[in-house]
Amino acid sequence: MLSKRAMSINPSPTLIVDAKAKAMKAEGHDVVNFGVGEPDFDTPDNIKEAGIKAIRDGHTKYTPAGGILPLKQAVVDKFKKDNDLEYSTGEIVISCGAKHTLYGLAVALFDPGDEVIIPAPYWVSYPEQVRLAGATPVIIETSQESGFVLDPEALKAAVTSKTKALILNSPSNPTGGVYDREALQRIAEIAVANNIIVISDEVYETLIYDGMEHVSIASLGPEIKALTVVVNAVSKSYAMTGWRIGYAGGPADVIKAVTKIQGQSTSNPCSIAQHAAIEALTGPQDVLGIMLKEFDKRRVRLVEGLNAIEGVSCQMPRGAFYAFPNVKALYRGEIKGSEDLSMFLLEEAKVALVHGAAFGSDDHVRLSYATSMEDIDKAIARIGEAVGRL
Ligand SMILES: *Cc1c(COP(=O)(O)O)cnc(C)c1O
Repeated sequence: MLSKRAMSINPSPTLIVDAKAKAMKAEGHDVVNFGVGEPDFDTPDNIKEAGIKAIRDGHTKYTPAGGILPLKQAVVDKFKKDNDLEYSTGEIVISCGAKHTLYGLAVALFDPGDEVIIPAPYWVSYPEQVRLAGATPVIIETSQESGFVLDPEALKAAVTSKTKALILNSPSNPTGGVYDREALQRIAEIAVANNIIVISDEVYETLIYDGMEHVSIASLGPEIKALTVVVNAVSKSYAMTGWRIGYAGGPADVIKAVTKIQGQSTSNPCSIAQHAAIEALTGPQDVLGIMLKEFDKRRVRLVEGLNAIEGVSCQMPRGAFYAFPNVKALYRGEIKGSEDLSMFLLEEAKVALVHGAAFGSDDHVRLSYATSMEDIDKAIARIGEAVGRL
């Protein structure tokens, strides 16, 4: 009964882990949830108030499918201010979250036969969305030693006559890897030389540590800008995952196609959430620094705790809110891979985390530190204890 397309994809493993952890919690188990991919902070009050005001002001009807003009303008200003990128409002689309923007781009850009290069470890939806569009994901491994940054030589070697696009994600979910300007420059040269579209997912832009600077690959020159679509969202930066507002800046024809697809599928993103997003982008920004500081403390505590457990080796992530430790040394007996280990830790330690295999690396697991310091300490103790019994 089902289409080949529907059968070609997997359900989102992060959503499954989260659901299982929440179900165990509801049954009365004291589960520490490191599976979630969203900030534990509440949406700031000024943003909530803007949403409430939008309802009172009657912004409760359809809007243009690609979003309202004042929000597009706020996005234009944001790209200029934060990323040194000049777009007009005709080069901006607003969607129902960055995931929806990325899906619209996959449908707008990819045909069966096209190859789309994705560095691994990757965010779970990239290969599935490429497959949903009928195209073929081409996975390139990156190494822990390189900070999980794509090697330009490996990229060059993967390019064929069918290569249509490259999906980049910096800062990265799940690795916390961050591309610096030089790494992006080398990738941009290869993209321009081979006419490869770059989809640059920058949703963790504001979560970057140790004084590193976020660089958008599109800002490296007019040639690469003409080939790049920059995807971002208010979801992670402003603790607004439930509001579902993402956006993109890119070439007008691509943006127009994504808008057309939205017009025939979802119609507009939520009118109320769009008004809240204007406040997020144009209102006080001090909340970003407050959240960053808190995430930074948790990052150090979690990674140091993980590294103190025998058989676990974790690089200090440079961005986002995930630790991605190598746990291969723990694979023995019944535990044959990351999925077995995650299940073992959920059942034996009541700690929910996501198996690395879901992100394209079976040697690792992902822990989100968008959790309280207490939970971090509790989880480290429990993981250490459970792993000691292996
Ligand atoms: C969370 C996430 C998204 C999706 O963001 P939404 O705006 O909630 O749809 C996209 N890319 C990455 C890498 C993410 O982690």
